Amino acid sequence: MTATSTSASATAPTGFPDTLLLAAPRGFCAGVDRAVLIVERAIEAYGAPVHVRHEIVHNTHVVQRLADLGAVFVEDETEVPEGAVIVFSAHGSPPEAFENSKRLGHTLIDATCPLVTKVHHEARRHARDGRDIVLIGHEGHQEVVGTMGQAPRSITLVETTEDVDALELGQDAEIAYITQTTLSMDETSAVVDRLRQRFPLLANPKKDDICYATTNRQDAVKTLAGSCDLILVVGSETSSNSKRLVEVSRDRGVDAYLIDEASDIDPAWCVGVRTVGLTSGASAPEDLVEEVVNWFRERGTTNVDTVTVIDEDVEFALPSVLSRRLAQLSGESSEELLSLLDDDDVEASS
Ligand code: SF4
Repeated sequence: MTATSTSASATAPTGFPDTLLLAAPRGFCAGVDRAVLIVERAIEAYGAPVHVRHEIVHNTHVVQRLADLGAVFVEDETEVPEGAVIVFSAHGSPPEAFENSKRLGHTLIDATCPLVTKVHHEARRHARDGRDIVLIGHEGHQEVVGTMGQAPRSITLVETTEDVDALELGQDAEIAYITQTTLSMDETSAVVDRLRQRFPLLANPKKDDICYATTNRQDAVKTLAGSCDLILVVGSETSSNSKRLVEVSRDRGVDAYLIDEASDIDPAWCVGVRTVGLTSGASAPEDLVEEVVNWFRERGTTNVDTVTVIDEDVEFALPSVLSRRLAQLSGESSEELLSLLDDDDVEASS
């Protein structure tokens, strides 16, 4: 863990925090970065409007900025005119959405995060091998809807240990579990432990489905919780991973609030607080975090430090259909084009 700091000259009034600790990593993950870039580049490549199925990422500011550029957000692909360009969101979509789009002759650009796609592959593999699948996740979340759609007859959704107890499956049943990528690690491990107790033959995922970005952001909050009296999480109410960050903090006895932007901060939260921790969910842009930093500085917080728990270096390539279009527009050679078609290329070092 490393810490870097800057300080300003004003002094915080008595009873107001004098120190603000920023979590690192925080904010945009590789999947969100890629999804936002896909919409921006699709507008560039095809012209506005570009339709987007569901909020591309769960952040109201990001969605509004893309709408201003020419994105049109729809909940259902069947609302989009025949032959139009459509981007599917980072959370993943069920197979029938792809079928509908194909039938309507859409130019489809899939912005599903490759880590969500990996869970889809697992679900289909288990279903093919005849296993019952338990999906740990939150009912109604877009990612869960997309994953359930991969094998609807084989998947049962559970959220809690009580849900595990209520499963109507025999002890010797061949069961595999998969999870939503943005869950709380602590909560999920309790559910997995219960599954193992009930079903000794339980098949584990090859690698945890909870993604690197979720894990790293939760670890950073756990570290901040050791030295903060209050933690603020920048993120939207619709963002699962942001809400989990609030829970992680509260589970460690540190008061925490989810805020969409600086104007959501209630100064009463800061009374008697010396050190505030600040982080942001994987879909929250950094300029919103900077506004919060300024909010504290303007009120006299002098010490602003960054607490780094891990460096992230993860990148996902653009979908080939978009890379190809952009390369054609810029007149790139076929060799340059081939280097862009590495759709599933994932460089991960964290
Ligand atoms: S939070 Fe994880 S799974 Fe979700 S988009 Fe980001 S990297 Fe992908």
